[in-house]
Amino acid sequence: MSKNGSTRKILRVDLTTGEMADEIIASEVYRLYPGGKALGAYLLLREVPRGADPFGPDNRLYLMNGLLTAAPISTATRFTAIARSPLSGGYGESEAGGFWGPELKLAGWEGIALSGQAPHPVYLWIHDDHVELRDARQLWGTEPEFTQNWIREQHGDKLIRVLQIGAGGENRVRFAAITNDLRHYNGRTGMGAVMGSKNLKAVAVRGSSKYLDLAHDPKTLAALGRNLAKRVKEHPQAWDLQDKGTPGLTRGLNTAGILPTRNFREGAFAGAENLMWEQYEKQLLTARRSCYACAVRCKREVKLDDRYQVSDAYGGPEYEAVCGFGANCAIDDLQAVAKANELCGRYTLDVISCSNTIGFAMECFEHELLSLEDTGGIELRFGNAAAMLKMVELIARREGFGNVLADGVKRLADKLGGDAHLFAMHVKGQEMPMHEPRGKVAVGLAYATSEVGAEHLSSFHDPLIANAESVSFKSSLPLGIREAIAPRVWSDHKVEFYSTVEKWNSAEKVIGLCYFGPAPRSFIQVDEVVTAVRAATGWDDFTVQDILRVGERATNLARVFNSREGFTRKDDTLPERLFQPLEGGPLKGEALSRADFEHALDVLYHDKGYDPTTGAPTRERLHELEMEWVADAMDEA
Ligand code: SF4
Repeated sequence: MSKNGSTRKILRVDLTTGEMADEIIASEVYRLYPGGKALGAYLLLREVPRGADPFGPDNRLYLMNGLLTAAPISTATRFTAIARSPLSGGYGESEAGGFWGPELKLAGWEGIALSGQAPHPVYLWIHDDHVELRDARQLWGTEPEFTQNWIREQHGDKLIRVLQIGAGGENRVRFAAITNDLRHYNGRTGMGAVMGSKNLKAVAVRGSSKYLDLAHDPKTLAALGRNLAKRVKEHPQAWDLQDKGTPGLTRGLNTAGILPTRNFREGAFAGAENLMWEQYEKQLLTARRSCYACAVRCKREVKLDDRYQVSDAYGGPEYEAVCGFGANCAIDDLQAVAKANELCGRYTLDVISCSNTIGFAMECFEHELLSLEDTGGIELRFGNAAAMLKMVELIARREGFGNVLADGVKRLADKLGGDAHLFAMHVKGQEMPMHEPRGKVAVGLAYATSEVGAEHLSSFHDPLIANAESVSFKSSLPLGIREAIAPRVWSDHKVEFYSTVEKWNSAEKVIGLCYFGPAPRSFIQVDEVVTAVRAATGWDDFTVQDILRVGERATNLARVFNSREGFTRKDDTLPERLFQPLEGGPLKGEALSRADFEHALDVLYHDKGYDPTTGAPTRERLHELEMEWVADAMDEA
């Protein structure tokens, strides 16, 4: 086989029958959908029938490596989990870094396609070509640290990489995550709940090949990797990630008035000083950690033996947890935040959805839409750390009021009726991350139009292009930025630039690069991504435009999946609260303009080739993207 960075080999597992088979993806298919999000969405659209129950045997779970996953390029660590989402009922997708994806690659596999439902809990064991389903009944109900140790001991190998679910996934919490190495998460869209519904406790992997043996031009790839690793210290954003990690964002966002506070009611938090990086470093931090071969090293390790006990096994809170369990629940106690984050790791819950859901319930309680009788006697008020921690436990076990919150914000709002939907901070059923669109309008456009519902990694964040002298602005020039634009300004050029960046960021999820690697967010330049792909694959004619088309294809597959499930333009929307003025902080009084938002949607749809009413890709655009079969499938549906 020629060396092109990929075996194109996936493992198919029918969990109902226990049958397994390998399949080589045809090279012409792989060139159009080269891994990760693209290959997973391609298989999902072809193989999961319309209306499949997200928790039924017809739903499938795809775990797909990116094209460059395991290459010696910092941030080339990612793999994608894809299925129909139990949270939105539409396209579900979530990326994770860590070590599991690279290990799968080194075992010779580009991905795994899981169908059916096992009759009892099992785990999948992969050691290079050896694949085996094993009984996991004794592991069901155990915590991730125990499960990982047990599997490693069972096989006598401490370097086995274990991907798994905990109580959240087993109990089908709709925002349950999948974890690998205990501290890296496919957090969003409820992929852990799908894994739980399949009775699949874990996928343990050990590989023995070397990535560079697979690459077309290993020398170029290795040299590029060395240069990029050296650059981390010189690049302001990359260095900041190493120095402070994502918790370092808290101060700037609070100062700018875009730190979601009290369920997005306000944009700054009076108790924010207690949540800042300096406190984190002083009270919690024990080490800086990394994903596979990544020089950025943005991961934090924490430990606490004080008012709360926090294990160092599950990784430290990221910014999303600091803001979500902190400012957004009006809790100024970093130790309680660290405990909530640890519980999410222990039970494999998505911290964004979990914290947002609790913040929403706190506001419902304060508006007397919920009573003590509803909550089982818990005073679920803003600022009550004990109540917050209790709710995380109850959600994971689906006990008491936790059983209601385990279905997320949208279902709680629907259940309560009245005005609850006005401040239910979700899009398409997925809870909003901790970024305030009233201060970053492109992020709002991403929340509204992303196929997975509210998510913050398909857009650039507006402040990055507000200054023409910044490194981010300059590194955005190859993606078509022409002028600096202020964060709160909608302009057609900003929307068109967003459209391009969405394709670029979608391609990152195909290629297997972390959001914190490439421009415009960070230090890998656009042309260097092209160099890496060429060196890995030998696709010497591959250009930036080809990368954008790869990303666009992946997005279109997801969008068609949603169209088939009944999603239209009306679902590309934002919570009502965002069109109302912020009630506190430096941006107090600022609201999104509905007219500006609708105009931005028109511009975006035109640029992307979506029908202005249905929001579905037009046949013409699908034809341009060599995806005529998708248009045919849409017509048949
Ligand atoms: S930048 Fe951080 S999250 Fe991304 S791959 Fe590197 S260590 Fe992992």
